Amino acid sequence: MSNPAFAATVLTLYPDMFPGPLGFALAGQALKKGIWSLQVENIRDYALDKHHTVDDTPYGGGPGMVLKPDVLARAIDAVSSADDPRPRLLMSPRGEPLTQELVREFAKAPGLLIVCGRFEGVDERVIEGRGLREISIGDFVLSGGEPAAICLLDAVVRLLPGVMGKYESGEWESFEKDLLEYPHYTRPREWEGRTVPEVLLSGNHAEIARWRLKQAEAITQARRPDLWQRYLARRDRAEDTDG
Ligand code: SAH
Repeated sequence: MSNPAFAATVLTLYPDMFPGPLGFALAGQALKKGIWSLQVENIRDYALDKHHTVDDTPYGGGPGMVLKPDVLARAIDAVSSADDPRPRLLMSPRGEPLTQELVREFAKAPGLLIVCGRFEGVDERVIEGRGLREISIGDFVLSGGEPAAICLLDAVVRLLPGVMGKYESGEWESFEKDLLEYPHYTRPREWEGRTVPEVLLSGNHAEIARWRLKQAEAITQARRPDLWQRYLARRDRAEDTDG
């Protein structure tokens, strides 16, 4: 028996944005194969007044509009019962930063329910009342949660069993996860006077692996001191347990 499909449900005011990029390449093929499914629901369909109002002005004043809690809760309740085991996420710039570790966690879930915010955000009470976990894709502000949801789903779907070959998805040693990647080269061997590092042409796989690790370490140290410190700590722990 194969695993049941990973079931994603997205709540949005712009359903036409989906599947969008998720309909192409790896994610798109996996969608066609039924490795994952995508249900897209228009929040506006759950606004019951004549004008289908989804937003209102913020209490306390200030600019912009706020997504109404009653409308959003009705949409959530329509697609997800109280015993739905899937994590409920709200894309939000003040959320937990999305990391590969979180992506791995989500890929093990039976699916995800993702709420895409718009305007200034959503009424705080629906976050509490429906147990929404806020997730941010970075320290910048988008105009809506849809591109963030697409990023998150793209990262999760590529980890689902059967989406990538064994080789690409092969787990790195745990401490190597904190390294940025080494540089890649392909044909032609010389391009605009630039050559490919000799070692990559040597056929010596152990030496190539050593060179790549060195490059990855140098790039990480130069570009991401935060990752570099984590890497050093993990590597030292791994050496302690080995020796
Ligand atoms: N007033 C908010 C910004 C709202 S942006 C603030 O200053 O924090 C509108 C919507 O875009 C948000 O509700 C959220 O769903 C989405 N969004 C914006 N930036 C995001 C980010 N970095 N990560 C995830 N979602 C984001």
